Amino acid sequence: PVRVRFAPSPTGPLHIGGVRTALFNYLFAKKNGGTFYLRIEDTDQNRFVPGAEAYIMEALEWLGIAPDETIGKNEKFGPYRQSERKPLYKEYADLLLNNGWAYYAFDTAESLDALRKSAEEQGKTFIYNHTVRQQLDNSLTHSAEKVAERINNGEEYVIRFKTPVDETLHLNDMIRGDIKFETNLLDDKVLFKSDGMPTYHLANIVDDHLMETSHVIRGEEWLPSLPLHELLYKAFGWEAPKFAHLPLILKPVGNGKLSKRDGDKLGFPVFPLDWIDPVTQEKSSGYREKGFFPEAVVNFLALLGWNDGTDQELFTLDELVAKFDLNRVHKAGAKFDPEKNKWFNHHYLVKQSDASLAEKFDIILKEKEINKERPYVEKVVSLVKERATFVTDLYELSDYFFTAPVTYDEKASKNWKEDTGSIMQELISVLENIGDFTSANIETIVKDWMTKNEIGMGKVMQPFRLSLVGALKGPHLFDIVEMIGKEETINRLQKAIS
Ligand code: GLU
Repeated sequence: PVRVRFAPSPTGPLHIGGVRTALFNYLFAKKNGGTFYLRIEDTDQNRFVPGAEAYIMEALEWLGIAPDETIGKNEKFGPYRQSERKPLYKEYADLLLNNGWAYYAFDTAESLDALRKSAEEQGKTFIYNHTVRQQLDNSLTHSAEKVAERINNGEEYVIRFKTPVDETLHLNDMIRGDIKFETNLLDDKVLFKSDGMPTYHLANIVDDHLMETSHVIRGEEWLPSLPLHELLYKAFGWEAPKFAHLPLILKPVGNGKLSKRDGDKLGFPVFPLDWIDPVTQEKSSGYREKGFFPEAVVNFLALLGWNDGTDQELFTLDELVAKFDLNRVHKAGAKFDPEKNKWFNHHYLVKQSDASLAEKFDIILKEKEINKERPYVEKVVSLVKERATFVTDLYELSDYFFTAPVTYDEKASKNWKEDTGSIMQELISVLENIGDFTSANIETIVKDWMTKNEIGMGKVMQPFRLSLVGALKGPHLFDIVEMIGKEETINRLQKAIS
């Protein structure tokens, strides 16, 4: 059965890449009738950030891609928090020590730094590989008794992986195809530390195995770890899951990788939710707070590295589940396009019913102490929503339906000629005598009056609109007139004349 996971480290808010990884795992699981689980990789206590875990869960919940299994939910393979699985990892580190795939190393940070420096000076990168390990302070260069003694004396150590020598690894990635790696270029990575904590590599492989993970779908930044991970499966004698590394997400301009900072520069923080950094107390507001609909976020994330082979761009979550295919994920980096993301949001906004938009808009109106009947708000929404990207845009697009303009657009005011005032005065008398104050009727009567008196359209319509709206914008003028009503229309005309 298909079992996939999202395995974030709770080091802070999620960024777009992390959420995309979660989404692709979710889609793959659902498409294949499998299970999507969430595991918290919190073995690095130095980088632990309180609140990050809850934040991650809330983000997935909001997007509608909550895991089937996780902390507190169907804990079949729990615990799902690595810090609670601590005793387990030592057992597996010991297993590799016993079968010859790992060894103890006592090198100090200073001695390793010195080696790194001297390699750098020769223009090389220091690799803790098979030639080096024969010369350093570890259990391959000391007798077993000496090693036992040092450990008993409480000396600090790490357990390192013993990378095989002179091998070419033939690996496969579901997106990248066949990949070759030379083992001689690999470091003997640290698997376990004397503080009793495993490193990411050991904990990740042990858990992926114990939690019966069938596919590992993760970001391209983990591709360099693939050879070690495959070797670890081999060392344990376990069958490895299939791997798929998702393409990088690139900056909108240039070729660099999208960074958390780009989001801010663009006015679009890359975080999906509201996040208060517990250390700096800084708030970084995210996609939800910007007014993005979860459906829009899911839609644009899905297209970061995937398409269905047609030009279709709009997909519901259900459609994505039906159409998602790892074989259609590309290798090349995917450009992040904030403008396009807004386009998606506009689409999902327009698709909402006027009733549901009005409900959301009403919250904003109430904050401004504007209380209008719901049908009126709904009508306003239906007249202006085509121009909105976010619900928060609605007020700016429709304020004149609720309050008289305080200022008039400067450029448009230049068309207010000497005779405009008296024409508007006459218009007021015409309006005063209209009984059936509905858009079409008002339009007919006002136009008849213009024709009879040979007053040009421009002389009436522009100043009329300017008086009601404060600018030359908005929907059909007579719709506005009907909406705000006779009294308010006349008040605004009078105010504009004076
Ligand atoms: N804990 C790793 C992360 O933060 C998981 C990487 C993986 O999926 O193997 O992304």
